[in-house]
Amino acid sequence: MAVIAFIGLGNMGLPMCKNLLKAGHTVIGFDLQESYRDRLAAEGAKVAGSIAEAVQQAEVVMTMVPAGQHVRTAYQGEGGILESARPGTFLIDSSTIDVESSRAVHQAASAAGFDMVDAPVSGAVPAAEAATLVFMVGGTKESFDKAVPILKSMGTSQVYVGEAGCGEAMKICNNMMAGMSMVALSETLTLAERLGLDYQTVYDVMTKASGNCWALSVYCPVPGPAPASPANRDYAAGFAMAMMLKDMRLSQSTAADVSTVTPIAAQAAALYEAAVAEGHGGKDFSFIFNVVSGRVELHGGK
Ligand code: NAD
Repeated sequence: MAVIAFIGLGNMGLPMCKNLLKAGHTVIGFDLQESYRDRLAAEGAKVAGSIAEAVQQAEVVMTMVPAGQHVRTAYQGEGGILESARPGTFLIDSSTIDVESSRAVHQAASAAGFDMVDAPVSGAVPAAEAATLVFMVGGTKESFDKAVPILKSMGTSQVYVGEAGCGEAMKICNNMMAGMSMVALSETLTLAERLGLDYQTVYDVMTKASGNCWALSVYCPVPGPAPASPANRDYAAGFAMAMMLKDMRLSQSTAADVSTVTPIAAQAAALYEAAVAEGHGGKDFSFIFNVVSGRVELHGGK
């Protein structure tokens, strides 16, 4: 069992820490917000007053913070991980961030003599709570092998996807697909409905036909056919629309970085953008069906 410093104790970080504790690891947590540190302390973990204090005794450091600039600050800022961790400490960043920041932090970590992986996750808060996250891991194969025993405490799947930054690249591609397919499915369901087909019929046929996809079979955005989908609980967020917007924006900036044109993703991103601007960011992202079908109007006539 390892001594793990965990930086970022928010919606995802807290349940991930709980599962590390459950597996028998020692967790030393740090978040900028004191109330989040208190929440973790109440679970029996140690908490620290700074990153430097948290990482000093650690064998492994995990980060789960919002975006690229937060990861850069946590690693490369004054009193940050690279300055304060002991030689030989193993570094895992599970935040969803841009590939460029991830590769820059990898490079700085390597220059300072640390092994690191980027290991973003698929699965939202319920998966973090149930320890069923899917980790997409970038770095050397040796570093991946080192990460697996730790990641197993928090997830059911750990996949090696390539060199430094490839975990983030994989995560961004996956979520771009999920974001686009939910919009495409919403258009299809809207047309089906207007042509006189009922949702259950569309579901029963399409899940067996070439139109099948995860957005339909597991996460169907209309109530009924897939009982576990958020549409059956008034779109209470499994994965909030604001988070999907963040990932769609990441897909667009990343695509631009490598001169790749993604017009369908751009349209989908614009739709999520408008829905979030209208105040729907806290709903599950499948709520976009209500926008596409015209049940909910956006200013600007969408
Ligand atoms: P969150 O905002 O709830 O938590 C992030 C925490 O990081 C905050 O409490 C913040 O105070 C802390 N933080 C930021 N900078 C810090 C620093 N320098 N030192 C210490 N703490 C710092 O976010 P979340 O929902 O837990 O998401 C975390 C990451 O996981 C994001 O990159 C997100 O995109 C990704 N993710 C989230 C979900 C989800 O459903 N929430 C799903 C998959 C991936």
